[in-house]
Amino acid sequence: MAKVLVIGAGGVSSVAVHKMAMNADIFTGIALASRTKAKCDAIAASVKERTGVSIDTFQIDADDVDATVALIRKVQPVLVVNLALPYQDLHIMDACLEAGVNYMDTANYEPRDEAHFEYSWQWAYQDRFKAAGLMALLGSGFDPGVTSVFATWLKKHKLDTIRTLDILDCNGGDHGQHFATNFNPEINIREVTAPARHYDGGKWIETPALTKRQEFSFEGVGPRNMYLMYHEELESLAKHLPEIERIRFWMTFGDAYITHLTVLQNVGLTRIDPVIYEGQEIIPLQFLKAVLPEPASLGATTKGKTNIGDIATGYKDGEERTFYIYNICDHEEAYAETGNQAVSYTTGVPAMIGAAMMVTGTWAAAGVFNMEQMDPDPFMDMLNRHGLPWQVKELSGPLAF
Ligand code: NDP
Repeated sequence: MAKVLVIGAGGVSSVAVHKMAMNADIFTGIALASRTKAKCDAIAASVKERTGVSIDTFQIDADDVDATVALIRKVQPVLVVNLALPYQDLHIMDACLEAGVNYMDTANYEPRDEAHFEYSWQWAYQDRFKAAGLMALLGSGFDPGVTSVFATWLKKHKLDTIRTLDILDCNGGDHGQHFATNFNPEINIREVTAPARHYDGGKWIETPALTKRQEFSFEGVGPRNMYLMYHEELESLAKHLPEIERIRFWMTFGDAYITHLTVLQNVGLTRIDPVIYEGQEIIPLQFLKAVLPEPASLGATTKGKTNIGDIATGYKDGEERTFYIYNICDHEEAYAETGNQAVSYTTGVPAMIGAAMMVTGTWAAAGVFNMEQMDPDPFMDMLNRHGLPWQVKELSGPLAF
C-alpha cells in the first residue's frame, strides 16, 4: 500500500496527481491538500472524470507545521510530495521529520523577503533525515530534475567525464496573452530578474540579469534567443559532479516578454519590499501576480512546443565527444491529457516519477539527496513510458559560444 500526500494544488500538482491516478498500481492511495480546498476539489473532479480514481482532499496551510503534522498523521502516507511554493519547503520538511515520513519537492527553498535561493538551507537537514532513516529528494521537476538526471545518464552511458555542461530551456509556446508567466508569476519573476551566475573553473561568475544573449535553433521550435541565467541545479551539479569545469543555464524569452518585464521592473512593480498603499502595506510583486493571468488558465489557448535538454562535452576513452539530450513536449497534447499546459506537464510528470522511484523503493536511502545522486536508468525509462520521451544525439563538436 503506497499512499502519498500531495501538498499544493496549482498546475504542477494537477499534472502530477492526474499521472499518479493513471498509475494506480504504484500509487494505491492519493490525498491532496492545499491552502484553497476548492482547487483540490477541482483537480479531484477532473481526475475522477479522466481516470475513474477517487482522491481525498483537505485544506492545509503548510506554513503551520503542527497542522501539517496532524494532517500527515491522519492521512498516513509513506511520502509527502511538496508541490506548493518554495517558501513552504522547510516547514514541510520539519513536518515530515516530526511525523516520520519521506519528503520530495520540485524547487529549492527561498525566503519570502529575499530573492535568493540556494540549497544550503535544505542540505542542513541531512543529519536529521539520516538519523530518522528517512529520505528527502530535492528538485524532481524538469529543471531541476530531468536535466540533472540527463547529466548523470550521459556520464553513465556516453562519457567517462563531463568537462562542460549547458542546460537549454526553450518554451516555444504562444498563449496569446500580451504578458503572462508559465508558472507561478511571483516565483518566475524573482528567478528571471536575479543576476545571472554560471560556474567556470571552480568559481561563480556573476553578470547582470538578461544581458548575455545567444541565438539557438531548437528542434520542434526553430531559432530562439536564449539568455544566460542562474538556476538552482547549477549549485548541486557543481557539488556532485566536481569534475565539470563549466556549467551554464540558458532560457529562451521572446522580445515582447523582455520589453514587458523591463517596463515592470523600471516602474517598480517587481519589487519584493513592502510599500504603503492607502495606509496598507503591499508587496508590489504580489500585487502584480494578482493582476496577471493564472498560469493554469493558459492551458486552453497555448500552442507550440517546449524543448529542454543538456549539451555535454567530455571525454570517452580519451577522445573528446559532445552529446545533446533533450525532450520535446507539445502544449496542446499536454492539455488534452491532463488539462494543463506543457510547462506544468514537464514538471508534474517528473514529480510523479520521482515519487514512484521513492514509494517503490527503486531509489531508497536515508538523508537529503539531489536527483543526480541517484541511478538515472529507472527514471529515464519511466520518462519514455509516461509522456516525456527523450532523444540523444552526438554533435560534431563542442558549442561555439
Ligand atoms: P502555483 O502557484 O500554480 O501553485 C502553488 C500551489 O501551492 C497553490 O495551489 C497554492 O495555493 C499552494 N500554496 C501556496 N502556499 C501554500 C501554503 N502555505 N500551504 C498550502 N498550500 C500553499 O505553482 P505551480 O504549480 O506553477 O508550481 C508549483 C511548484 O513547482 C513551485 O514550487 C514551482 O517553483 C515549482 N516548479 C518547478 C519546476 C521545475 O522544473 N523543477 C518548473 C515549474 C515550477 P493557493 O491556490 O491557495 O494560492
